[in-house]
Amino acid sequence: MDAGTPTIALPPEFGKIWPFRLEEISRYDSRGPAWYWNNFSCGEHTGTHFDAPIHWVTGKDCARNATDTIPVENFFAPACVIDVSREAGADPDFLLTPQHVESWEAIHGRIEAGSWVLMRTDWSKRQDAGAFLNMKEDGSHVPGPHPDLVPFLARERDVIGWGAEGVGTDAGQAHRFDPPFPCHSIMHGSNKFGLASLTNLESIAAKGSGVSHAAAEDCRGSGSPCRVLALVSGD
Ligand code: MN
Repeated sequence: MDAGTPTIALPPEFGKIWPFRLEEISRYDSRGPAWYWNNFSCGEHTGTHFDAPIHWVTGKDCARNATDTIPVENFFAPACVIDVSREAGADPDFLLTPQHVESWEAIHGRIEAGSWVLMRTDWSKRQDAGAFLNMKEDGSHVPGPHPDLVPFLARERDVIGWGAEGVGTDAGQAHRFDPPFPCHSIMHGSNKFGLASLTNLESIAAKGSGVSHAAAEDCRGSGSPCRVLALVSGD
């Protein structure tokens, strides 16, 4: 994260997320001769980050739904990576459907309950903030899950959560979907999680790795910047 890290842009009537800001306290100088440290400030949903169920109104009453109350065993889970980088490269509004997932399962096997489903789009290769947010007059255009996919994954596959490479877990045009922002609404309403702004998904296999994402324990946090680590077998 740095001051240029893109954050989600909402219409003017809504509250605003802070951009990342770093302030040096001392660097082996008169302010602290032997030590270097900084203050930083940012929104909970900045850079690569975790979305907790309490983030959405549908998840506000779920049990242990915030960054400091989620059971720690839920911070590690198997990962399924669905590669649609070619489709997303051709269409920034690409939506992953249940049919795409069933085609993936025909090759890799059924998604096990408690798994992460991570959509690889190579969107994170867009280093320019403008291209990454891809805002047009009618809003952002970024790939995401089709509104039919989210209940399929939450209820028929009982996944632990959904991860994507864009600034948020939902598609850029998800405010137009029914329900709006289905990944937020249905996943968090089912006490499930989100991971956004993931990178390097091309480095891990479609199946067989695990994902760890310890979020900061901010009190009643709705999410947190985090390092998301993929653990792979050594062969
Ligand atoms: Mn978020």
